[in-house]
Amino acid sequence: SKAERFLVTGGCGFIGAALCRLLREQGAEVVVLDDLSSGDPTRLPPDVKLIRGDICDRVAVDRALDGATGVFHLAAVASVELCARNPDATRRTNLHGTSALLDAAGDLPFVFTSSAAVYGEQVTLPIDEDATPAPMSSYATDKLGSEQHLQDAARERGARCVALRPFNIFGPGQAPRSPYTGVLTRFVESASSGLSLSVNGDGGQTRDFVHVNDVARALSGSMQVACKAERGYFAAINICSGQGISILELARLVNRLANSRAPISFGPERPGDIRHSTGDPTLAETAIGFRVEMPFEAGIAEMLAGRADRLAARQ
Ligand code: NAD
Repeated sequence: SKAERFLVTGGCGFIGAALCRLLREQGAEVVVLDDLSSGDPTRLPPDVKLIRGDICDRVAVDRALDGATGVFHLAAVASVELCARNPDATRRTNLHGTSALLDAAGDLPFVFTSSAAVYGEQVTLPIDEDATPAPMSSYATDKLGSEQHLQDAARERGARCVALRPFNIFGPGQAPRSPYTGVLTRFVESASSGLSLSVNGDGGQTRDFVHVNDVARALSGSMQVACKAERGYFAAINICSGQGISILELARLVNRLANSRAPISFGPERPGDIRHSTGDPTLAETAIGFRVEMPFEAGIAEMLAGRADRLAARQ
């Protein structure tokens, strides 16, 4: 049988690099297409071919697809705030880029990182995939539009596609200094340096966290399903733990695990902030055999230890 050779767009990013590591461990060949707009090529494991280019550039895409047996599409402007400030420019990557790549990928199985952001604010929790999407941002609108392009490709020309809807992803490798970084990364930074953990609003918002290595496993599992699927297969699948935690509880938990007495401060609510977001992980289990493996507290402890190591290395 032909060796597996996967294209990973956005492979130099937070999630993409974790996926590349897993695919290499599984023995697959990996080609990355990344324009390095937010990615870091030094994150890639050895023996991954990097093509620096834009997913909207057909020449670069065709080069990256040469010999590929499947496509993982992760490249995006992943910051909701940046998309809100530059909706048209970011739509080029986040919507048109998906559509262009999908065309170029032809019959190859196609796995896409959508987002739980497509749900917006839902009344019924936990949120399952039958919920009617209600995007509340330009970022979320383009994720939903991209999913619909996948669904069209499946219906109209038999493509086999999976769209994953991860909830809040955490783990080592999220840029700590970026203002858009996940709340957990910011809490870990603050607690380890004794600075106050700043909560937007009253901290009663709930979130569902899933570790980046678990997301990588879900992506790889989705590819296996897409490869074996009949023509015209499409599924949109939550990637989540099913457990909600409030932001205030999270701040206290990080302090406890860090042995820190850093104060917790409350700032203004973020406009448009979703109040409650917890996902139903049932379909992920039945469709791709995925369950969260990384225990939440162990994942946070690992981030705290990683930060201590980086500090020690600098001294
Ligand atoms: P990231 O910013 O770390 O990675 C995105 C990568 O895409 C970067 O390496 C960047 O250089 C590259 N890229 C951006 N525009 C490109 C273009 N036009 N052509 C080629 N490469 C381009 O973000 P991430 O957190 O690793 O997110 C990966 C994917 O998962 C994104 O699609 C994101 O929307 C999605 N997602 C992330 C989260 C999360 O919590 N981090 C949650 C749900 C979904």
